[in-house]
Amino acid sequence: MEISELMKKATIFHGHICPGVAIGVLVAKYAIENGFEHSPDEELVAIVENDNCSVDAIQALLGTTFGKGNLIHRDYGKNNFTIFSRKTEKGVRLSLKSTFGDKKKTTRDEKVKLLLESKLEDIFNIEEVEYNPPPKAQIEESITCDICKELTMNSRMIDYQENKMCIPCYQKFKK
Ligand SMILES: [Zn+2]
Ligand SMILES: [Zn+2]
Repeated sequence: MEISELMKKATIFHGHICPGVAIGVLVAKYAIENGFEHSPDEELVAIVENDNCSVDAIQALLGTTFGKGNLIHRDYGKNNFTIFSRKTEKGVRLSLKSTFGDKKKTTRDEKVKLLLESKLEDIFNIEEVEYNPPPKAQIEESITCDICKELTMNSRMIDYQENKMCIPCYQKFKK
């Protein structure tokens, strides 16, 4: 798929064109072209180390989404992207080169243009990684919180003072 098509698809999902979307599009394009094609179910898992605009492009183009549980966020504040394929049992990691981080003088549009016109190797460090994906998302039962009566995933309940409580209720009680 052409980069312009991918940009269009990602931008419709994200809402605007920005360098973050361009970064995500480049990561997704590389992935798609190297055996990590779009994931209708949980064929792919993406581990992202930031929650910026780039992640929306990853979700839109690779099908690794928050809702399906095959998008894992590690809150490190870094532009690193690791993608695993459960089909091929391969993994790849792209990390933004530091030389790309400090182009502060350029405008947003110039940055996007620069990203899309650069060689991928000039933007990212790319390496194959050992196949070691996180486990698949679990479907689990919900039970009713004794305090607010809202249905809550069992694994998120806390036993406190003879009650089973959801996290917000527990935080209120604890004070
Ligand atoms: Zn954005
Ligand atoms: Zn509750």
